[in-house]
Amino acid sequence: MESIEKKKKDKKNIEDNPGPCLEKECSFCCDPVKVGRFFPEEKIPVNENGEKIWKERVEILIPEDEIDTTRLKSYDCVNLDKATGKCLDYEKRPLICRKASCVNRDSKESIDEQHKRMTKRKFIVIKT
Ligand code: SF4
Ligand code: SF4
Repeated sequence: MESIEKKKKDKKNIEDNPGPCLEKECSFCCDPVKVGRFFPEEKIPVNENGEKIWKERVEILIPEDEIDTTRLKSYDCVNLDKATGKCLDYEKRPLICRKASCVNRDSKESIDEQHKRMTKRKFIVIKT
């Protein structure tokens, strides 16, 4: 089992190393936005008018590869252009989005392999 220290280091590496979203034209992390079940409401990013930009879906996602341990809340982001999969405010996207990454620079896997592993994740959807 992975140590807590290793998990923390992996998390930091990932946060300091933004994902290849533009190169891959990938919106996996935005469609829908997926966060831990106990993600605090006050951390939802807001626009310049103070309005939350993520709208909660009435569902819980269970990753098939973490079926016993993980439950996720999901959100639709008002900044996602569903037709193109692009963020409409990419340059000014919130910090929490900048920190989202599928790439850990300490990994032995290539960026391609890590990206593929992330985007092929499947979820069981439970309506709430
Ligand atoms: S899976 Fe990777 S490339 Fe795709 S949106 Fe997330 S961080 Fe970006
Ligand atoms: S603001 Fe942009 S990067 Fe952040 S979740 Fe919305 S679409 Fe994705």
